This record gives sequence, C-alpha cells and structure tokens, in this order.
Amino acid sequence: DPVLEVRDLVKHYPVRNGLFRRSVAAVKAVDGVSLRLDRGRTLGLVGESGSGKSTLARVLVGIEKPTSGQVLVDGEDVLHLSRAGRKQLRRDVQMVFQDPYTSLNPRMSVTEIVGEPFAIHGIDPAGGRRAAVGELLELVGLDPDHANRYPHQFSGGQRQRVGIARALALRPKILVCDEPVSALDVSVQGQVINLLEDLQAELGLSYLFVAHDLGVVRHIAHDVAVMYLGRIVELGPEGDVYDAA
Ligand code: ADP
Ligand code: ADP
Repeated sequence: DPVLEVRDLVKHYPVRNGLFRRSVAAVKAVDGVSLRLDRGRTLGLVGESGSGKSTLARVLVGIEKPTSGQVLVDGEDVLHLSRAGRKQLRRDVQMVFQDPYTSLNPRMSVTEIVGEPFAIHGIDPAGGRRAAVGELLELVGLDPDHANRYPHQFSGGQRQRVGIARALALRPKILVCDEPVSALDVSVQGQVINLLEDLQAELGLSYLFVAHDLGVVRHIAHDVAVMYLGRIVELGPEGDVYDAA
C-alpha cells in the first residue's frame, strides 16, 4: 500500500544568461521520475552528486515547486491542493537534513527548535508544548533535562537526534532523510541509523533515504532507486541493486 507515489516528476531550473538575463537553457535536475514508497518501508535514493536527489527531496517536502508531474501522498495529489491541503502536506512529509551543524538555529534552545513546528502551525499538543518536546526528546534518546541547552552543547550525533525530534513533532507519515548521517562521525552513523530503524518500527514511518552511495543505504533500505542525470536508472530490492551497482 503506497504512502507516497511520484509520477513523471520534472523539475527544470532556468539557466540565466548573464548578459541578456533571459532563460537560454534549462538544467533538467529531475527529468521524469516515477517511484513509489510503501507504508512502513524505506526507499533508498542513491546517485552521484548533481544527479537530482536533493531537488527531488525538496519537491517532495514542498520547499520547491516542480515543473510538472504528480506527487500523491496517501493517494491524494498534493500539488493541486487547496491552501489547507498544502498545509496538511507540510505536516505529513517532513525532512531530516544532512548537516545538523547548519540546520539547527544556533540561537535557539532545543526546546525552541523541537517545539517550533507547533508554533508555526499553531498547535497546542495535549499536555502542553513543553511536555510534548520532552516526549519527543525521549523518543530520540535525548535527556529531556537537557532541553534548555543550545546546539553547540551537543555532539554531532545528538544534534541530529534533535533534528529528528523536530521532524517528528507534527507526527508525519513520511520522513525524507537527506543524507542524514554523512556529516557525522563514522562512529555515530550506526547509532543514528539504528534510531531511525527503531522509530520506523515504533511509529510506522516511511522513509525516503537519500545517500550518495549504497554503503549506508544497504543497512536501512528495503528498496533502492539509483538516480543519474535526473532520471531513475535502476530500481529494485536492496540486494539486487547493490549487486548491480
Ligand atoms: P544531488 O542532490 O544529487 O547532488 P541536485 O538536486 O542538488 O543533485 O542537483 C541536480 C542538478 O540541478 C545539478 O545540475 C545542479 O547544479 C542543479 N541545481 C540544483 N539546485 C539548483 C538551483 N537552485 N538552481 C539551478 N540549478 C540547480
Ligand atoms: P499519545 O497519543 O497519548 O501521546 P502515543 O502512544 O500515540 O501516545 O505516543 C507515545 C509517544 O510517542 C508520545 O511521546 C508521542 O508524542 C510519540 N509519538 C507517537 N506517534 C508519533 C509520531 N508519529 N511522530 C512523533 N511522535 C510520536
């Protein structure tokens, strides 16, 4: 049962001519991508730098508008929604960013960072925001007593846990994880991967897991899609694609 379906997705960026300031060509960052993600599963998306992975990820979380194509979340075409529908999508699909050193605001405490989605969406969770933040921190293996600390007081792995807690605040169905461990020490990469696997089992989450090579994806992904020059050039169960790549 697919929680996410992408059909013929295209995203072209105009290339501006410096002298005449008009579009002369397009970078076909995503050039006709179709894929599906089943509920509770992980689809690894691998490909070399510039193959279009981040562009696809940004379209899926609604940061970027596609040129054409369809994105269905729970069977609903999320690109042609009302304002309210788009707002709901922003809750259903959340992103875990690559680098927790740059993606967490250094001037905000962990309470503020993890609780920000509640503030943005005007949500008052039962029991209050502070308690909800504490629960989220526990969920990702952080001490709720450290909620008043700032990002610089945490290690890289702990910061990524904060990023994951924030992504979970609105109880999403899908996490788009954009190279969530590649900025971390090798020694903590496995811990964060294990955490993501535990959360998937506990919360029934579905992951699109972006990585530039198969190494990390091999451990977490059920299926793997290989992207090259904006297209999916291979797609299949993890073992099959691993052998071929
Ligand atoms: P990846 O995540 O696989 O490294 P990207 O999605 O970042 O790939 O990039 C795909 C292509 O789109 C590259 O050629 C890149 O230069 C181009 N691109 C990405 N973002 C933009 C942008 N904002 N404006 C113009 N071109 C972009
Ligand atoms: P409740 O709904 O009473 O909070 P649950 O059993 O649904 O109890 O959740 C248990 C814990 O897991 C709570 O801390 C809750 O915030 C958290 N939780 C449950 N589902 C999700 C989800 N999809 N995303 C993030 N946190 C969740």
